[in-house]
Amino acid sequence: MDTSLEVLNLSVCFKNVRSKHLESNVRNGRKFIRIHPRFGHWDNNKIRIKKLDKSGCLPYRVDLLAFQKQNKRSTQRWSKISKDIFLLPTSLWLWLPTHYNDDTEFALWLKKPTNINVSLPWAPSTENGRIYPFKPEYFLTKSVFGRFQQNKFKKGSILFDISFTNKVDDVKRKQLVHWIENAVAAVSTVHGKFPTNYVQVLLTPISQGSEAAPYAHVLRGGGISIQFFIMPEHPIKNFIEDWTAYHEFSHLLLPFIDLKDAWVSEGIASYYQYLVMARHGVVSEEQAFRRFWGGIKRGFDNYHRTSGRPLSEVSKNVRRYGAHRRVYWTGALLWFQADLILRKSGNSLDKVLAEFARKHHPEDDTMSARELSKVLDDIVGYPLFVPLFSQAQDLTAYPDYRELFNRIGIQIKGNELSFAPSKLRKALVTPVLESPLQMGNTERPSIQP
Ligand SMILES: [Zn+2]
Repeated sequence: MDTSLEVLNLSVCFKNVRSKHLESNVRNGRKFIRIHPRFGHWDNNKIRIKKLDKSGCLPYRVDLLAFQKQNKRSTQRWSKISKDIFLLPTSLWLWLPTHYNDDTEFALWLKKPTNINVSLPWAPSTENGRIYPFKPEYFLTKSVFGRFQQNKFKKGSILFDISFTNKVDDVKRKQLVHWIENAVAAVSTVHGKFPTNYVQVLLTPISQGSEAAPYAHVLRGGGISIQFFIMPEHPIKNFIEDWTAYHEFSHLLLPFIDLKDAWVSEGIASYYQYLVMARHGVVSEEQAFRRFWGGIKRGFDNYHRTSGRPLSEVSKNVRRYGAHRRVYWTGALLWFQADLILRKSGNSLDKVLAEFARKHHPEDDTMSARELSKVLDDIVGYPLFVPLFSQAQDLTAYPDYRELFNRIGIQIKGNELSFAPSKLRKALVTPVLESPLQMGNTERPSIQP
């Protein structure tokens, strides 16, 4: 990469792998990928390899300016392109061989000028290293190249890369970095260790929206990118007290779940978002349950739009039905129900997820709700999630939240909540395994499910 930020020069080098083509999931590659005819040519949407250079590599260039011209409109919202910064889908520039072996290892070797920053969805293999091992998945993640503010640091066992796609002042920048660290620490209270050792966060300041962090999304595929759209003029308190970051990082408790089963992933993130705030001391126990109840009420109000339709159908068409809140909060109530059942026998959802995290990572392959429920039941040792998830598919009613709240000592009368002492409720906001400040140990705690 050179300082002009007009092209990225890449070489795909092979060792013991023969492939006739390079491919990516990006359409229209030929409009901005340049390849010398000596080395290859376009074959539909793939690059047909003709010859490798002396080092056994296939060189190609990504013409960033051509991409920018072509995609002016569509990229405005989710990508950012200016003369100083390119925020791009990773699959746009990283083309991979169509054929390789199961045990083929992939790594990126980065060469760049010192005044250009790069943010990638993977951690380097060595500290300050330039080699980034990665898994060859469809890359929905993002990469950033250019002159931008970047905070890279290690805390506990976690390597953070927090990059700002627009400039913010130094005081706010420091506060926003703290905001992200704080949310990661809060989510670490679920099972004592954050689900991943590398966190790529993109902070994109925007000028419209009433909240501190009005939108965010988790992008996966071989790695993970988490992008927050933020309103930097909000005081930092608003960021810390906003649920968004706790919600997004809670998504990492599970791998990517099929979009048609949105209630599973949105449910777990919605269930934990307020609990981890209480566990980490951001809100009190009572505030956490009041806010949880607020979400459940919003879900119930939204439920009327799609009442009578099964949850699976609504989850599949969440946008078309405008049923986000029903899906999120029905999901949260189902995870809540499972947690209460587990806690009756001294187990907990925290412990089950800790055990799950020993073998499964948030950047792993997509799982369906059914696959996930089987894995969780293997951990629990009896059928809990399989029947719960399969009943959930056909669920047309909104779950009986009053009864669930009763079990944790909360009475709901109209819009009023009354709190009786409850050990169970206290347990839900108490981190059982590790201190809340611990952001991941090198060793995972051992748990008897
Ligand atoms: Zn979500």
